Amino acid sequence: MRFASLAGRAVIVSESSAVDVEAASAGRFVADPQAAFDDWPAFAAWASTVDASTGTPFDPSTLGAPVPRPRQVFAIGINFTEHAAEAGYPPESLPVTFTKFPTCIVGQDHVVELPPGNVDWEVELVVAIGIGAHRVERSTAWSHVAGLTIGQDLSERVIQLEGASPQFSLGKSFPGFGPTGPWLVTPDEFASPDDLALSTTLNGQRVQDSRTALMIYDVPELIARLSAICPLLPGDLIFSGTPAGVGNRMVPKRFIGPDDVLVSEIEGIGALTTRFVAQR
Ligand code: ZN
Repeated sequence: MRFASLAGRAVIVSESSAVDVEAASAGRFVADPQAAFDDWPAFAAWASTVDASTGTPFDPSTLGAPVPRPRQVFAIGINFTEHAAEAGYPPESLPVTFTKFPTCIVGQDHVVELPPGNVDWEVELVVAIGIGAHRVERSTAWSHVAGLTIGQDLSERVIQLEGASPQFSLGKSFPGFGPTGPWLVTPDEFASPDDLALSTTLNGQRVQDSRTALMIYDVPELIARLSAICPLLPGDLIFSGTPAGVGNRMVPKRFIGPDDVLVSEIEGIGALTTRFVAQR
């Protein structure tokens, strides 16, 4: 099942058509996409009976963030061995964890105003929590996942790396710095949810290309280790870390400029596009 936000309303989508949740459920489930996570098991059970191909055609560029107002957004640094090597970090016993403040979360085809500094790209598999998780074992971790979507952990590297203690959370939370989408895909839709190809192109040139099987901490391990400390709440997001190929590690370094177009793809989900303009 593919869950999305269309003009701010919860929808179940196929590639080309959308079924409005509130209308199709006769009001049992409301239009606010975030409300679906209040009782995700009941919602997912109902939604799995909906034939999305019977819906109405829609313009994919009008999709918003499928999880528009997460209460917590966890983000993981240095979760691919190759990226850890290019960034100069040894593997850690705890995942390097920061937050993207929820005001930065946006959806498909968002236009981001570039702040001063060096704005970089990071494609990431994003996990949405469906059932609250506190101190869960990795063996049951997937049962807490509502679905997977594509994320771009946009990062302004000057702020991120400034000062005695780096400012990851601030440097990665400018307005529009958390594109997610285009939709949330439930785990049952993937043949191998632990091994998905993920890639990024900048203006058509491929800059990142890897597989989630190469993550140091896979999705169950992230849920186990994060939930050992913080309860994970329904509708929370986890940005699971990026593979090698970021602009800050290129020689010479390369950053995002006005009129650039960033497209990230993940196998079994689709493609997420973000556009950039100079700060007005
Ligand atoms: Zn990242």
